[in-house]
Amino acid sequence: MKILQDLNLEELKSLVISLGEKPFRAGQIFRALSSGRKISEITDISNDLRAVLLKTYVDEPVKIIKTLISKDGTEKYLFRLFDGNIVEGVFMKNKYGNTECLSTLVGCRMGCKFCASTIGGLVRNLTAGEMYATVCAVNKLGGGNLSKRAVTNVVLMGSGEPFDNYDEVVKFLRLVSCKDGLNISPRNISLSTCGLVPEMLKFSEENLPVNLTVSLHNPFDNKRKELMPIANAYKISEILSACDNYFNKTGRRFIFEYTLVKGVNDTVDCIKELIKLLKGRPCHVNVIRLNEVKENGLKSVDDKNAYRFVAELTKGGLSATVRRLNGADIDGACGQLRRSHIEGESV
Ligand code: SAH
Repeated sequence: MKILQDLNLEELKSLVISLGEKPFRAGQIFRALSSGRKISEITDISNDLRAVLLKTYVDEPVKIIKTLISKDGTEKYLFRLFDGNIVEGVFMKNKYGNTECLSTLVGCRMGCKFCASTIGGLVRNLTAGEMYATVCAVNKLGGGNLSKRAVTNVVLMGSGEPFDNYDEVVKFLRLVSCKDGLNISPRNISLSTCGLVPEMLKFSEENLPVNLTVSLHNPFDNKRKELMPIANAYKISEILSACDNYFNKTGRRFIFEYTLVKGVNDTVDCIKELIKLLKGRPCHVNVIRLNEVKENGLKSVDDKNAYRFVAELTKGGLSATVRRLNGADIDGACGQLRRSHIEGESV
């Protein structure tokens, strides 16, 4: 079976024409799917067309099977994909809008030491339509529609490395920002990468000026390798020039994520090196308190030290903040909820 949400408006037009229908049916279908409806619920097309579509396409490729609501209002979802795989997503309500954090892969093969998503390795890539369907489903669940959206911002910071699924992620970004659908502006979208330099360079040519966020986590190449195996492939200097290139092409300031791990990357040397590397660059440093994952034993720094770390960076001339904690009581870290769900099933 295929996924109808994988088709953009042009592709849907070709499909309906090939089925002997008028081209405007494509717009009806695209809008209905974007509103989070199943194929079987698209009542403005004929029964016959629905039946034909249902022979080839999955009625509901992404189904929310579990919702957890945190004390701070953050909601976390488990989505079941049509083949039974599970991915997670988070919905955070902010003053400026509501953000969905979504997964781009089932599992991940990047192997970052602190991250729960990568523990079981990569299972498979999500398709563009599956990613889009998670946003449509959450928008619908939140009471939104196409004219009044419940989801206004999207961050690709859930499980998976977006640039390890480059083509589908780029297609997703075009789907989610399409004027005829949810119409979420690239400016309201952030993509987080562990630093796949060739894809960062390629992405700057896509005319998708999203906020580019890079997981740095250590300013020294040799130490970064201990946390992030991808650091064996690309040097920090290469990442920085790819970021500069992104700024030159898009005019978008970039962001570095820096997850503080106690005794590992919270040292004075790290602060000094970060200032040396980043001062004068059009960037912001987002300092994250580690969400402890039982499998790896790494420890978070306490709040006081996280704020002290940021104060030192600011004193050194950088723009830096501590990221708000969201949903820590509901397995908020990437991949934690999926893992506990899978473990629960196998017990
Ligand atoms: N693969 C992408 C996006 C995934 S996760 C990337 O590496 O950027 C989004 C951010 O959460 C990354 O900065 C990642 O390093 C961080 N992260 C992963 N696990 C975490 C944890 N347990 N605690 C805090 N941050 C974590």
